Amino acid sequence: MLNIKNLHARLEQKEILRGINLQVNPEEIHAILGPNGSGKSTLGRVLVGDEKYEKTEGKMTLEGRNFDEMDSAERAQAGFFLSFQSPPEIDGVSAKELLLAAKKALDKDFRSSFRLKKELSENLKKLHLSDEFMTRDVHKGASGGERRKMEMASLLTIDPKIAFLDEIDSGIDVDAMKAIATAIQEFMKRKGKALILVSHTEKLLQMIQPTHFHVLCAGTIVQSGGQEIMERVHQCGFCDFIQEKKKNSQLKVVS
Ligand code: ADP
Ligand code: MG
Repeated sequence: MLNIKNLHARLEQKEILRGINLQVNPEEIHAILGPNGSGKSTLGRVLVGDEKYEKTEGKMTLEGRNFDEMDSAERAQAGFFLSFQSPPEIDGVSAKELLLAAKKALDKDFRSSFRLKKELSENLKKLHLSDEFMTRDVHKGASGGERRKMEMASLLTIDPKIAFLDEIDSGIDVDAMKAIATAIQEFMKRKGKALILVSHTEKLLQMIQPTHFHVLCAGTIVQSGGQEIMERVHQCGFCDFIQEKKKNSQLKVVS
C-alpha cells in the first residue's frame, strides 16, 4: 500500500531523514520507536507533504501513486491521514465544519451534514467525548488527552486507507489510552486499513499488537522486526541500537 524507498529529507539545510525504507501493506500496523529527535515526526510531515521540508532523494508511493506529484490535499484524497504530535488549535472552525469540509473534499458525493453529524456523534461517544466537541473550535482550550481522543474521532469519521499517528498516546490517562486503543482496533477491523504508529508507551503497543516494529535512529531505520524489538527497547533502551549502528557504519567505512 505505502512504499517508501531511500527517503532523504531536510529542514532548513539540516538533513533529518537519511534513507528511510518502509513498506506497509493492508492490515498491517507498523510501530516506529526511536529516541527523541531521530526524525519520527519529520517522517509524518514529509509523508503528508509539509512544504517546510524538502525531499532531497527517494520515492514515496501510495497504491502505486507517486506522492511527488501530489500536494497535501491530494495525498489525503488518496487515503493518507496524519495525526500531529501536537495537534494545533484552529480558531473559528468547529470540528463539525472541518470534518464536513474534509468529507466533501474526499468524496464529491458526500453532502449530508446530517449524516456527518450522526457519524461524528457516534465516534465521539466511542472516545468518551461529549457532543460539545462537535461545535467547539477545533482543539480550542482542549486538554492533551481530549485533543488526542478528538484526533481519533476524526480518524474514524474520515476513514482514510492509512493513518500515521504521531504519539497519539503521549500525556494521556489510562482510560483515554483504552479508548484510543479501542478506536484503533475498530479502525483496523475495517477492510484493508493500515497504520503507522509512533509510540513510546509499552501499554498501548501491547493493546494494539503491531505486526511490525522499527527503530528509527538519526534519520534511518536501524532495526526492523517483531515484538522482540519492543522488548529489547524496553529492557535496554535505544543505546544498543545506536551502538550497533555506529559499529556497522564503521565497518562499512573500513571495508
Ligand atoms: P522525533 O519526532 O523523532 O522526536 P523530529 O522529527 O521532531 O524527531 O525532529 C528531528 C530533528 O529535526 C531533531 O533534531 C529536531 O531538533 C529537528 N527539528 C525539528 N523541527 C525543527 C525546526 N523547526 N527547526 C530546526 N530543527 C528542527
Ligand atoms: Mg516526534
